[in-house]
Amino acid sequence: GVVIEDLHKSYGDNEVLKGISVTVNPGEVVCLIGASGSGKSTLLRCVNRLEDPNSGRITVGEFEATDPDVNLDAMRRQIGMVFQQFNLFPHLSVLENCTITPRRVLKQPKADAERGAMHQLELVGLDHLADRRPAQLSGGQQQRVAIARALTMKPSLMLFDEPTSALDPETVGDVLGIMRNLATAGMTMIVVTHEMGFAREVADRVVFMDQGVVVEEGPADEVIGSPSQPRTQDFLRRVL
Ligand code: ATP
Ligand code: MG
Repeated sequence: GVVIEDLHKSYGDNEVLKGISVTVNPGEVVCLIGASGSGKSTLLRCVNRLEDPNSGRITVGEFEATDPDVNLDAMRRQIGMVFQQFNLFPHLSVLENCTITPRRVLKQPKADAERGAMHQLELVGLDHLADRRPAQLSGGQQQRVAIARALTMKPSLMLFDEPTSALDPETVGDVLGIMRNLATAGMTMIVVTHEMGFAREVADRVVFMDQGVVVEEGPADEVIGSPSQPRTQDFLRRVL
């Protein structure tokens, strides 16, 4: 799981995270919601230390993420991240996109990496497109490849930052379906999303952030269905 305690992060004079505490138990799905600029991406990026927080503490499984001496490479191997932009390598095939990290980082032999990658591609329903280049796929298919690629590293935590925001409406459902399967399979997940239907259906807990603080958190049905805080009510009125 993930434990975030009293996390602070500033860019210059701009304090973006003002004492955030969130716990994600193993196997839980937590959705982070909130207006643009509320600090959701920054929080996610602090978890795998793409950003360095100013103070506070984060643990990811056995790793003390905020310890200056943490083995960042080992920690990041445990954490899969999927962004709004898929960030696939355009010059590599779908299969090569999914084997490059297991081969380079885990030193897997080519045949083993390909077997693992094909298995993940099957799970996202794209094994038949393994030889294509990313540009020959739809946005939704590319995002499914990005998820398969992350899973080839056998992470214990998956971070999603608005994974469907850049997609055509007709492909959003496929990607959310893959994420739902992953949640059902017991993956620990933190998902930044504007998909309130998904959050309500899949999230064990929803965390509503506003201007760098957690305003409200609880079971999805409560936070989305009957929020108690005016700021949450206001946000949901605008997005629902
Ligand atoms: P969105 O829904 O638009 O993705 P967000 O909740 O993810 O928003 P963040 O991207 O975390 O918000 O940004 C929070 C604040 O931090 C914003 O005011 C943003 O301008 C600022 N910020 C983010 N990254 C940087 C950076 N690298 N340097 C300076 N300021 C930054
Ligand atoms: Mg963001």
